[in-house]
Amino acid sequence: MTLLAVEHPDWMLDAECTRAKPELFYPEPAGRSVTEAKAVCARCPVQAECLAWAIRTNEPWGIWGGQTPDERGAALRAELDRVDTLGRSSAEVAAIIGCHPRVVVRRRAQRRAIAEERERLRAEATSIMQRLA
Ligand code: SF4
Repeated sequence: MTLLAVEHPDWMLDAECTRAKPELFYPEPAGRSVTEAKAVCARCPVQAECLAWAIRTNEPWGIWGGQTPDERGAALRAELDRVDTLGRSSAEVAAIIGCHPRVVVRRRAQRRAIAEERERLRAEATSIMQRLA
């Protein structure tokens, strides 16, 4: 059997969490609090690098850089929306953020779906108002 080699960024050598229980950083399945993991991250010397890495790689699990997956997702969406201006290709946006172009394409699809839903609701409200008038 061959094991896949996993590359770790250099900053992981200074990670404060190497001295903590790993379970602290994966509280979701057990519904445990994230407070203790966030406290470890708050005193970690590589918190910024860790958070940037987790956002860039779209890490779906656990506390990284002091943030939950939901918090990282919100940060990534905000950054994508800020950088994804007219005329930039998904590859250009991805290069600026440091993420995979598929992440940009997926966010664009989300924005389109949200805009379409808003338009649908607006039309529905207009129709109701016209019937009531
Ligand atoms: S910020 Fe938190 S998860 Fe990231 S390396 Fe430091 S202690 Fe570990």
